[in-house]
Amino acid sequence: VTTTPVDDGAIDGFSEGLHGELLRPGDPNYDETRAIWNGMIDRRPALILRAMGVSDVIAAVNFARDHDVVLAVRGGGHNIAGNAVCDDGLMLDLSVMRSVRVDPTERTARVEAGATLADVDHETQAFGLATPFGINSTTGVAGLTLGGGFGWLTRRYGMTVDNLRSVDIVTADGELRHASETENADLFWGIRGGGGNFGVVTSFEFDLHEVGPEILSGPIVYAGEDARDVIRHVRDFNEDAPEEAAVWIVLRKAPPLPFLPEDVHGVGVVLVVTFYAGDMAEGAAVLAPLREYGDPIADAVGPHQYAAFQQAFDPLLTEGSRNYWKSHNFSELSDDAIDTAVEYAADLPSPLSEIFFAQLGGAMARVPSDATAYPHRDAEYAMNVHTRWEDPAMDDECIAWSRAFFDAMAPHATGGVYANFISEATGEEDLAYGRNGDRLAEVKAEYDPENLFRLNQNVEPAR
Ligand code: FAD
Repeated sequence: VTTTPVDDGAIDGFSEGLHGELLRPGDPNYDETRAIWNGMIDRRPALILRAMGVSDVIAAVNFARDHDVVLAVRGGGHNIAGNAVCDDGLMLDLSVMRSVRVDPTERTARVEAGATLADVDHETQAFGLATPFGINSTTGVAGLTLGGGFGWLTRRYGMTVDNLRSVDIVTADGELRHASETENADLFWGIRGGGGNFGVVTSFEFDLHEVGPEILSGPIVYAGEDARDVIRHVRDFNEDAPEEAAVWIVLRKAPPLPFLPEDVHGVGVVLVVTFYAGDMAEGAAVLAPLREYGDPIADAVGPHQYAAFQQAFDPLLTEGSRNYWKSHNFSELSDDAIDTAVEYAADLPSPLSEIFFAQLGGAMARVPSDATAYPHRDAEYAMNVHTRWEDPAMDDECIAWSRAFFDAMAPHATGGVYANFISEATGEEDLAYGRNGDRLAEVKAEYDPENLFRLNQNVEPAR
């Protein structure tokens, strides 16, 4: 995406009204600030604004619109496609704006748009509260929420968007709007799954639930050769499991974690990762059939601090590596689907790559598929293929493996994909928005008719 050159006078005018720092190529911190989580993305914005508040956000939106400058918005910078950063245009970096205000009586949190999941968990857990987020604490609240958001608490309390009460958002006309079920309701519908298409959200208000501080959770690890039987067993267990339980399946090479014997490090394994959002003793009874099954290499299920468990997978998904991700949704895990996944897992293209199946359903499935822009309420599982590697020479091989596996799983899947796991614009947006695509285009036409906000899983304004 290219941008029209802007004369220095206009840039000077823009910079004079700002509270945050405006960086240009060559400035100290320029390279550090333009770097995002996926190491494959290397883009050089002409300007980076490290916004300090709503006033800076309004100035950036007005400047980009009036001067036809490409605008990239950065929350936590975890989007794999790299939409948080652009070449030539203006990168609006929100990562300085990360305050979190919890109201323990009302059980709500007001979160600024640059906060990470860890920032929120840290504040809410001081009161034994939490809202459903993803499973890596370094992820940005903004992008995760705008795409839908799911994690360990989703079966019990719904998706992140199901727990969103309201937002403050600066739309393409530079106006700050409040959106909720009762105010700008169409906009509020759209931002709950329609991504950053409608404006720059400056803060989110979430409902909170009693969680932890200790919860029963942790992985049971089996040898890769047992994967087929283990996954079938987990699938059967999950069919009747209560909503408090969430059991995810990860196929990968064993990482060098202390609870795993050294001789399995680097060898193919299957991790059955458990989580129980409820009473600890009750959880132990519910999860027992999983822990009693087969011949595990390790069982690390036990009481964990909720906030610490949210960070447990961070060391496996650190920033700076090269990443290409693909996703599918499944209404059931058929034997054939399991066989195909196990076959591809035996041939992972790099030691960092993994295939995971997130168990969904429960509270998330009770929300009608047109109640929010996020449409895939029928997904009992979301599969994410995390293809990760270090050496640029492996790019072609790793991307080809990822695409081949995605194609091989397609016949078993629902046809829907998760907008937040799209790695590149290949038309997958249609699969991500599904039946809600037309209504999203109407909302887009109302709030962003010129498609100012286009560095995202883009929705074209209805004409
Ligand atoms: P960014 O790259 O900063 O932003 C993502 C998109 O949102 C961009 O298009 C950006 O322009 C737009 N955007 C950002 N902030 C705003 C804003 N304030 N207003 C408007 N638009 C904005 N997802 C899950 O649901 N569950 C998981 O468990 C999960 N785990 C993950 C683990 C890792 C390690 C990673 C890398 C991703 C994971 N994801 C998960 C996917 C994640 O939801 C997306 O990558 C999401 O885009 C990250 O949001 P961000 O704010 O960090 O990213």
